[in-house]
Amino acid sequence: MSATASAPQIHNRVQQFIGTPRKMFINGKWVEAASGKTFPVYNPATGEVMARVAEGDREDINRAVKAARKAFESGPWPVMTASDRGRLIWQLGDLIEQHLEEFAQLESLDNGKPLSVARVADVPLAVDLFHYMAGWATKIEGNTIPFSPKYLAYTRREPIGVVGQIIPWNFPLLMAAWKLGPALATGCTVVLKPAEQTPLSALLLAELVAEAGIPDGVVNVVPGYGETAGAALASHNDVDKVAFTGSTEVGKLIVQAAAGNLKKVSLELGGKSPNIVFDDADMSKTISGAASAIFFNHGQCCCAGSRLYVEKSMFDNVVSGVVDEAKKIKVGPGFDAETDMGPLVSKEQLDRVTGYLQSGFSEGAEAVVGGRKKSGAGYFVEPTVMVKTNPNMKIMREEIFGPVVCAMPFSDVDKLIAEANQSEYGLAAAVWTRDISKAHRIAEKLRAGTVWINCYNVFDPAMPFGGYKQSGWGREMGHDVLELYTEVKAVCAAI
Ligand code: ADP
Repeated sequence: MSATASAPQIHNRVQQFIGTPRKMFINGKWVEAASGKTFPVYNPATGEVMARVAEGDREDINRAVKAARKAFESGPWPVMTASDRGRLIWQLGDLIEQHLEEFAQLESLDNGKPLSVARVADVPLAVDLFHYMAGWATKIEGNTIPFSPKYLAYTRREPIGVVGQIIPWNFPLLMAAWKLGPALATGCTVVLKPAEQTPLSALLLAELVAEAGIPDGVVNVVPGYGETAGAALASHNDVDKVAFTGSTEVGKLIVQAAAGNLKKVSLELGGKSPNIVFDDADMSKTISGAASAIFFNHGQCCCAGSRLYVEKSMFDNVVSGVVDEAKKIKVGPGFDAETDMGPLVSKEQLDRVTGYLQSGFSEGAEAVVGGRKKSGAGYFVEPTVMVKTNPNMKIMREEIFGPVVCAMPFSDVDKLIAEANQSEYGLAAAVWTRDISKAHRIAEKLRAGTVWINCYNVFDPAMPFGGYKQSGWGREMGHDVLELYTEVKAVCAAI
């Protein structure tokens, strides 16, 4: 059966959704941009425009922040019981689950990822996130502090207020869930700006926010470009906190923009994660694990295992194993049933990734497999394994954000750790070995927010995620995220 023959039908509702220009969601209403402008959304498998969306700018951000402020201070949200708030969040998770296929199809069309992946990863993980966070709504507590019999002192954990959330295009729905879940659990209100490349699933999510019964103004979704809508949100004086996921470069702009009113900032930024393979690892799992560490989501993961360090005696074996895995990957439109890897998200990303490949070649690296753009329409790049790399090369230092892994042999463990840590990033790392003591010793030494042992890309809403160094500020998910969305108030009474 050919890939096209087995391609699923586009869901009626998805067809309808992308067939009409989408508005923005402010104060529980669907509204046009104040300017009346819309912007195009491209299908990365063809490079063609597939939808149009209202283009938010400063004035729309102002309207949305006003609605979020009002909802934070009056109306049903601030007086709702924690239990009722939790139920609404749970209900939102249920509704996403009921619309799983529509979300998966939108993600695949918009981002380019295989539909099969969106069905088993992006959408179910978003559902889990809301269900997990629903439980936290009733468990946010303060302490009593018995420092003197003359005083009653206690702390309250209060919602931080109006939160601006700016998200990327690599997991559009899931990143919206990571941001909205804790904000809602803690009682904040939100203005969410999805990435301009992939605004569609956040807009469908907003429909479900209304359907779940979350009060008007609690969640506002304003699509638009980063330099306009995003910058207006990050710099807004009536926003109490900005939460951002994206490039380290833009993360620094967010910090500057936030300085005007010193709003709180949390950042989940880039990575150049070391994936370390010892010669005693179980190669039956390690090789496919190392391949999926970089090729999952086309390498468009901030935690992608993009630096593959292999103990010298096994270097050739592991590299040829990963190369075989790369050769098996069927690259094609995300909507084709047989596709393992779709196109990159945009022409800009395609140019960026091919630019890095050229830079690698000019510095002396070689591609054992891949190394090129696929000919024809769409933004397809071949899965690539680079060798003859060294730590000074640009491809070893900078985040490529594509399906390109740089392999390096190592023999001395201390040198390896120094090299693995020699990065401005510190988001994730992995160690593959059968020696459990060695694995934990190395996990301790790696300067990264997540260390996987004999696995990679394992996520759960209960596990905190975030970066050391220039990979970010704060941790998302787990109970750690609650700190990012609450202020602690100490109350002290003379008694
Ligand atoms: P990438 O480089 O991977 O496209 P970005 O960091 O540019 O990622 O984008 C992530 C998010 O940040 C997107 O929603 C984008 O619109 C937004 N963004 C980009 N530039 C700015 C900016 N100057 N201020 C605020 N948000 C921005």
